[in-house]
Amino acid sequence: MIALLTKYAAKLTASGLCAPGDVLLAALDDELAWSQAHEPGDPRRPLMEAVFAGLNISALLLARPAGAYQAVMAELARQALATGADSITPGDCETRTFLHDLPVVDGLSAQGVIQALRQRKGCVILHENEAFVAAFGTVSPEQAYVTFSSMCFACFVAYFAEHLRLARTGGLTDERRSAFARIEALLPPDRADRPDLLPGPFTSEDQAREAIIQAGRSTVEYGLVDSYFGNISYRLGDTILISQTGSSLDELGACIDPCRMDGSSCAGLTASSEYSAHKAVYEAEQTTGQAGPDSGGGARAILHGHPRFSVILSLDCERLDCPKLGECHRACDTPRSVVSSSAGLNIPIVPGEVGTGPYGLCNTLPPALVGTKGDATGKGRGAIVYGHGLFTLGATDFRDAFATLMDVEHFCHAEYFRRVDQFDAAR
Ligand SMILES: [Zn+2]
Repeated sequence: MIALLTKYAAKLTASGLCAPGDVLLAALDDELAWSQAHEPGDPRRPLMEAVFAGLNISALLLARPAGAYQAVMAELARQALATGADSITPGDCETRTFLHDLPVVDGLSAQGVIQALRQRKGCVILHENEAFVAAFGTVSPEQAYVTFSSMCFACFVAYFAEHLRLARTGGLTDERRSAFARIEALLPPDRADRPDLLPGPFTSEDQAREAIIQAGRSTVEYGLVDSYFGNISYRLGDTILISQTGSSLDELGACIDPCRMDGSSCAGLTASSEYSAHKAVYEAEQTTGQAGPDSGGGARAILHGHPRFSVILSLDCERLDCPKLGECHRACDTPRSVVSSSAGLNIPIVPGEVGTGPYGLCNTLPPALVGTKGDATGKGRGAIVYGHGLFTLGATDFRDAFATLMDVEHFCHAEYFRRVDQFDAAR
């Protein structure tokens, strides 16, 4: 158990979400096991012990987010407490479906944390002007880890999206501007190097699996996806190899399902929740795709992640009086896109919900992605799903899909700050 706790604590520091020493993870074995050796007088321990006593849980994480995550969460928590709202309400899809709103607790109090965790999987604690997060698991420490990284993502997106909305509507105050400048300075620069991914086309399941595992690890390593929210697939003839639902993209080894496109295998049961979208894209590609003669029926690879600035930019819309407001994530009918002629990008932003309903991604995604491969404007390389994430295509392997994922995110990062400056200067 201690090895497992140490592993997830190390993952949080490796991903830059926390500084070493700021993560404390505990799980109930015969007695409480801890991710770190006992340090006398550490106030987090009695608090966590009290939370274990007050709730029926098996694992608990108490961590102080680092860098921009810390600054953003502390800002949002201060705002929430100052306005009497006792929660943060992000608008992205991951949070809508996975976390709902995020309760804010004033001060490191066991009672406050217990109360918040009775309602939600995790909470933000504002203690002496710093943000902490408590998150639990009912069966494993992994659940607490997933909730924590998802909360960091949600708060990041919520803060930056709100700032752009305020810039657009003339609502920025000097106080807000200086907080934003402080946070901007904490953002790490975009990575310029590319991973060395396996060249395709892959002809055996083993090769394709190896390529999926490698691409998954790289998307996490490059910070293009929270490790549990994203998925990867490769089409081999009429079989789609796809990451399993709830699998961690940097540890896909045993978590790739082969699904027959005609539905004759039932492996689809554990396959990614976005399998229907992947399948629909491959089917549409097979009939209309023009991904090149050696690709045999359109794109072979799909990468999907939730890169932060792609999601944030998808939430920014100039139609402030749109009759569809509030329905953007499912019923938006305004054609929108992210376009950069210098980067060769023309990426549509489409609505769509996970699953197969009328607003399902399997209906909204294919028309945005398919049939335009090789378009001189850069269309057909990928699509952003409103408030959710980015899907990119690979002709024969993951090299082009990965490059598009990086290019789009880097462009959206730069475009985000360009828009903030532009709207703010115009006021
Ligand atoms: Zn997704």
